[in-house]
Amino acid sequence: MISVLVRYQELALKGKNRPWFQRHLVQHLQRALAGLGVREVRVPMGRIELVLSDAASTGEVRERLKYVFGVANFSLATRVTPDVDAIIAGILRDLPKERPASFRVKVRRADAQFPMPSPEMERRIGGPVAEATGWTVDLRHPAMTIGVEVLPGQAFYHFGKEPGPGGLPTGTSGRIVALMSGGIDSPVAAYRMMRRGCRATLIHFHSYPFLSRASQDKARQLATRLARYQLSLKLLLVPFGEIQRQVTMTVPSALRVVVYRRLMLRIADRVAHHDGAHALVTGDVVGQVASQTLENLAVVGHGIARPILRPLVGMDKGEIINEAIRLGTYDISIQPDEDCCTLFTPRHPVTRARRDEIVAAEAALPVDAFIDTALREAHRERISAGVPGSEESAAASRSDVGAVIKLTVGAGSDHDTSAD
Ligand code: ATP
Ligand code: MG
Repeated sequence: MISVLVRYQELALKGKNRPWFQRHLVQHLQRALAGLGVREVRVPMGRIELVLSDAASTGEVRERLKYVFGVANFSLATRVTPDVDAIIAGILRDLPKERPASFRVKVRRADAQFPMPSPEMERRIGGPVAEATGWTVDLRHPAMTIGVEVLPGQAFYHFGKEPGPGGLPTGTSGRIVALMSGGIDSPVAAYRMMRRGCRATLIHFHSYPFLSRASQDKARQLATRLARYQLSLKLLLVPFGEIQRQVTMTVPSALRVVVYRRLMLRIADRVAHHDGAHALVTGDVVGQVASQTLENLAVVGHGIARPILRPLVGMDKGEIINEAIRLGTYDISIQPDEDCCTLFTPRHPVTRARRDEIVAAEAALPVDAFIDTALREAHRERISAGVPGSEESAAASRSDVGAVIKLTVGAGSDHDTSAD
């Protein structure tokens, strides 16, 4: 019988909140893996154990775990009685077919009562493995590590760890509204905050029918990528072209970019209000373009009630691009589109906007009416993860997960353990 042993790191630091964080993570794991043959979820001492049925597809389970924030790393593991001979017998039976360049045994004892010290156990287990296989032992740089974890009343062995995405479980930091253009930066910015446990609603401003629908298609594709991390997310497509047109009628051209950004933020702030979101997120980077000087960022954020989080603010473009490539958003972002920023935008925007001139320029605009109209005309879509079977898993997680998956919380589950 095979299990997935999930380890979390930062959760372990959260003291009294830890059971709450753990519950979020367990719930998310149940949803993410619904339909894949998870028979039972156990919570043995600082770990989460997902007991798989014989029919479970371990490949798909591993793939999905890469998108569950809060998972530091995980192992496909076998549970045995905490007895050295039983552990040795199990390991010898399940050894991987391929010969590693070298190996070692690493024992972690979370059970202080267990009679044998870890180094002695490592020798006791490693000896028979080396003898049976002829494999070379390398304690310092092993190509493969046979892991043994001894907990009260149970033990696990496994043949290596795989990295998870890290971060905090989805939802544990509350909600955010992320402003997402079709560009490279803002999807990465949204991802960064999602990884910190924020549940994101995405808002995209487009200039259809003045421009094509291309930017909306990109926004949907980007949203689908990001949805893998929270299984489903809300995308708002907000028509912005008419607002821009009206801005051009009274606002001097050099100031328009700043005024557009302020209007976007005010609309997003209203969405956040309705959504119960605590912050707005943008992909701004200091100095990257004219609208992102420190002066302009200050003016852009003036008067916005919620904090504006800019997780990329100090990054280089190259670093952001690398992260976008890793995320799989880069190829979508570089597709040509007709971003609303290209509409009615001057060639020489102001780089040091003054607050009073912006406020004066806005005085003639019906800002509240803009916000009301934008929200009335916004198109709301629910984007699902776009992984095979995710529709069924979403359905399964709604209907029968509680019945199918039994959650067993083991004794001592509040004990502190690290994820390594
Ligand atoms: P990005 O690569 O994310 O488009 P950028 O470097 O092009 O960013 P700007 O065009 O100045 O920068 O936009 C700054 C931020 O404003 C974006 O990162 C995004 O958060 C928000 N933003 C800009 N245009 C839009 C849009 N059409 N819809 C939603 N948000 C937008
Ligand atoms: Mg852009």
